[in-house]
Amino acid sequence: MIAVAIDGPAGAGKSSIARKTAKEIEFIYVDTGALYRAVGLHMLNCGIVPEDQQAVSAELAHVDISLEFKDGDQRVLLCGQDVTDLIRTSDVSRASSQVSAIPEVRAFLLALQTKLAEKNHVIMDGRDIGTVVLPNAQVKVFLTATPQERARRRMQQIEEKGQKADFDTILREIQERDYRDTHREIAPLIPAADAVVIDTTNLTMQQASDMLKQLIVKQIDSDKNSH
Ligand code: C5P
Repeated sequence: MIAVAIDGPAGAGKSSIARKTAKEIEFIYVDTGALYRAVGLHMLNCGIVPEDQQAVSAELAHVDISLEFKDGDQRVLLCGQDVTDLIRTSDVSRASSQVSAIPEVRAFLLALQTKLAEKNHVIMDGRDIGTVVLPNAQVKVFLTATPQERARRRMQQIEEKGQKADFDTILREIQERDYRDTHREIAPLIPAADAVVIDTTNLTMQQASDMLKQLIVKQIDSDKNSH
């Protein structure tokens, strides 16, 4: 199986680029952030403070998360309910980042992620895919962009849905999440030593996904040649 690991901060373009590329090369695209979001949503629904390590850890026994793939698109099921569209709010973003610093939560979600990569060719994105989840991935990419550019893109996405957004609020939320994700003790957001770093600040999505595809095709070719 071929595994492509894509890590990077919120809004760097990981999901758009990974989803597009995965469809083109017929890999499945696994958005691991959705798993942390589902845990965050569950805790909010139960009235549990997402930073309360003890309460969150105790509740994990009642959390049932699974992923389904329909026409190449990932759906997230939380205790049997499709929550794919409910996990994109800013409250859930914050809660996901808070629960993700809890070691029991990371251990709980790890097996689900590694199993998917055992059975499928995957492009998996997240924060610790190249460093922890799939350290042997054949291709590792760290996608990044300036916080301002990432906030601009988020704002555009929100406005495209006909909703209102405030740039400074989005920028602050992104910076808070960056700080939490890079400073946590367990599996912090850092590029794997062998990752190719791509700064997408001045790239179009097409340019970035072409670069990713090139790296994957090169790897597939070199695998073929070595067999
Ligand atoms: O990628 P997304 O923004 O949806 O992720 C939501 C949150 O989940 C992140 O801010 C991060 O704290 C956490 N996360 C993580 N490890 C991953 C994927 C996401 O800690 N592999």
